[in-house]
Amino acid sequence: MLVSCTRCNSPAAVMMTFNYTDSAVWLDDMTTASEPYGYPLCANHGDRMTPPHGWTLTDRRTTTRLFAPLSVA
Ligand SMILES: [Zn+2]
Repeated sequence: MLVSCTRCNSPAAVMMTFNYTDSAVWLDDMTTASEPYGYPLCANHGDRMTPPHGWTLTDRRTTTRLFAPLSVA
């Protein structure tokens, strides 16, 4: 089963969900998906996602941490 990005037609890698009441946006791994109110995004659009003014964006993707460069000096 392949889900496409809502912005382009690339395979989705990120699931975006939001809550109007809390003015909050979340980015989650597509693997934890099946969010009925989520918006699938590809990695590219997920990375460029910016929340509306006054909203908070929480990136809960585990893949980001896996591949992010570690600054262990
Ligand atoms: Zn996209």
